[in-house]
Parts: sequence; structure tokens; C-alpha cells
Amino acid sequence: MPQKLNYTELTSDQLSEEIDSPDQEVACIGVTRELIMHTPATLYIVATPIGNLNDISARALTTLRQVDLIAAEDTRHTGRLLQQAGIRRPLIALHEHNERHRVQSLIERLRAGTDIALVSDAGTPLISDPGYPLVRACHAAAIPVVPIPGPCALVTALSVSGLPTDAFYFAGFPPHKQSARRTWLDTLCQQTATLILYESNHRISATLTDMQAVFGSERRAMCARELTKTFETLLHGTLQEIQAGLGPQPKGEIVLVVAGATADPETAELVRYLDILLAELPRKQAVALTARLLQLPKNQVYQQALGSRSF
Ligand code: SAM
Repeated sequence: MPQKLNYTELTSDQLSEEIDSPDQEVACIGVTRELIMHTPATLYIVATPIGNLNDISARALTTLRQVDLIAAEDTRHTGRLLQQAGIRRPLIALHEHNERHRVQSLIERLRAGTDIALVSDAGTPLISDPGYPLVRACHAAAIPVVPIPGPCALVTALSVSGLPTDAFYFAGFPPHKQSARRTWLDTLCQQTATLILYESNHRISATLTDMQAVFGSERRAMCARELTKTFETLLHGTLQEIQAGLGPQPKGEIVLVVAGATADPETAELVRYLDILLAELPRKQAVALTARLLQLPKNQVYQQALGSRSF
């Protein structure tokens, strides 16, 4: 009979030695799970739906079913999600008001072998949501952190925006006060990557007004409202058109995706001509005409056309 080892007392090096030893092989296979459960456990970062409950992944459900504890931004909200999925696990609240002082006790529980899943009210935890102090503390304590990916409003909006996706800058929520917001927008104005913002329905109109003042009203953008929900709406256009389309008091949750700044005035003019002509003509003709009008090499115009929003 292989001897019974107390795996809780082994260091990770001793642990690998035990698993590598042929005499222990059978015992180790049998106790691998027990052994894993007794080493510092794992923190799972579990993404949940941003509206449509069918968007939860099979892996997210399995993880939520198997962990010992679920740390949730709002235990009542997550409780409803779990109830619908027929999952009954202990819940603990971890929100922006208590996360700093709750981190230490969660780290102690992880060290003692408690597997924990972190969820927020919607989407991916830590993305404009609680969890950052806990993840940092886990890294500092060498506790494994495993992502269980899924919905995220910013990526969902970007993927349908029709704006360049090769480089993007997620800026989170704008400041609430107008003067701070304008200063903040000033710092983003020359950003050439596609810009993504979260904004509440109460402030979106004021933010769009400030954006037009700082970026100009012709900057192209897309506003995604109520993604994955019954009244999902995608508005494409200039900042001015989007503000008009939303009206003064829009309802629901909103992501704003804004085209990055064009690098220089010559490129800006080229983009403007191309956008107009590509909307009316086949690409070859639009490129030839733009090149003639602006006296630019066709190849330069063609390269720009390949990245144009009209394709
Ligand atoms: N962690 C979330 C994620 O992964 O996207 C974001 C949480 S943040 C507190 C909430 C903001 O995300 C909302 O104010 C809105 O800007 C955006 N958002 C969340 N769900 C959305 C949806 N279904 N449609 C549009 N925007 C959404």
C-alpha cells in the first residue's frame, strides 16, 4: 500500500517529487484532486452576461457550481443568476466600499484551500468593476488566478462598431463634473487608437456635447445601447448625429466607441474625400478620383482606402 502523505505540509517542489515517484503514482493519481484542494486554492475571475442570460458560458456555470465560495459585487443580483442556473453556493459581498478591507480575509481563505469565484453584476469583473485589489493580493501571495472569459460590453460594442479594431483605448467612465471631463477629453483628443467609453444614460448627452467641443462635431462614432437586450440599439454617425439620434434623455446602458484622431491634416482630408466617394462609387474609382483631386499617389490613397470605415 502506498503510504498516505499529508499533502498540506508539502512545498510545491516536494509535491512534484511525490508525483514523479513511481511508488507513489497510484496514490498520487487518487489524491491529485485532494492534493490540489489542499494547496492554496484558486481565484476564478468569472464573466457573466451583460444582459442576455444565455450568454453565460458552460465553463462559467461549471466553475460557479464547483467553487466553495462566490464573491459577488451584489449578492442579491448574483443570487438570482445562480437561482436561474440551479446553482447553490455560499455568497459573500465584494464591492467598491468593502473590497479593500475584505481582501485579507479572502486571501486567508484561499490559503486555507477555499476555491473562490469572483463575479460582478455584469460582464467581466475588474473592467470598471471591483476585483483589482483582490487579484493583486493573489499575485503577491502566489495564489493562482484563473480567467473564465465571457461577455464584456466594451469588446462587444467595438466588434460591431465598424471602427478600426487593430488598436483601441478603453478610457472607462468620464469624470462627472464638466470642467474635469473637458480636461480629461483634452488628454484623449489626439489619441489615434479607437476610443471606447462607458457612460450612464443620465450623463451621455452632456458628455457628447463636451466631446463635440473638444473633438469637433464631425468625429465618427458609434453608440451601443442595451447590448444583448431586447431594446439593443446601435447608432452610427458623427458625434453630432449620435447626440441627435439619442435625444436628451436616452434610457438604458451605453457604450460609446469613437474614431481615433487622424494623424495629420493631409490624412484627414484624404479620409474625408475617400469616405464621401466610397459611399457612392466602387473602390477602384473612388481611389482614382481621390488621387486625382488631391494630387496624391494612387498607392497611398489605396492603402488608406483599405482601412476606411466604408469597407
Ligand atoms: N464589467 C462590465 C463589462 O465587462 O463590460 C462593465 C461594468 S460597468 C460598472 C457598467 C457599464 O458598462 C455601463 O454603465 C455601460 O456603460 C456598460 N454596459 C454594461 N452592460 C451594457 C449593455 N448591455 N449595453 C451597453 N452598455 C453596457
